[in-house]
Amino acid sequence: MESVFEYAKRILERVREAERRAGLPEGTVKLVAASKLHGAEAVREAFGAGVRIFGENRVQELEEKQRLGAYEGAKVHFIGHLQRNKVKNLVGLAEVIESVDSAELVRRVAARARELGITQRVLLEVNIGREPQKSGVLPEELPALLDCVESEKGIFAEGLMAIPPATGDLREIVGFFEQMRKLYVDSGAKTYDNSKMNVLSMGMSADFEAAIACGANAVRVGTAIFGART
Ligand SMILES: *Cc1c(COP(=O)(O)O)cnc(C)c1O
Repeated sequence: MESVFEYAKRILERVREAERRAGLPEGTVKLVAASKLHGAEAVREAFGAGVRIFGENRVQELEEKQRLGAYEGAKVHFIGHLQRNKVKNLVGLAEVIESVDSAELVRRVAARARELGITQRVLLEVNIGREPQKSGVLPEELPALLDCVESEKGIFAEGLMAIPPATGDLREIVGFFEQMRKLYVDSGAKTYDNSKMNVLSMGMSADFEAAIACGANAVRVGTAIFGART
């Protein structure tokens, strides 16, 4: 059986290859290794292979692995649904919170960041497939959310994140990636003080290369690096 080290190396190579095919300078696309439900040892192994950003979706799990020194030398992005009562613990701990999707979260994150005297970097999550059970703002709600970010201090929105419907049909998923790309470009056309569309985070284990071809410059890969989550 191959190790996390080898899987991580291979995924990093595949990201670099997809980047090259898309005509992007080396290092443009960031790999976020989604390490949720995998322990500190697996995280260290992926770090040894060159992974420098880890993605977690539970604040408590992030804090625990942080205490164990799992992310030493690396950054952590929060990629899960963020509960209001966890904002206090998370702000300042995650380099980027990728899952901000409401005016209330914007205000709470910004308020906590001001308490800490920092600026919290975030991505705005879009529910591109309009799935009722999913997090994220609807595409037409994005301008209002950007306006909300603009009215706060202590928060900076550096791009968009999306998790398209898990249809298993790559052609359909590519359609959603293309919609995201358009939304990203359109949102970047307006100038804001507290936002700049620099990051488009989309693509997971099964489709990250397609996402890069569609304009993603951040991909979140879990299973293909760490194996199945049990
Ligand atoms: C777990 C997770 C991923 C990675 O999914 P895989 O299919 O395991 O690669 C990506 N994004 C988010 C938000 C996740 O929670």
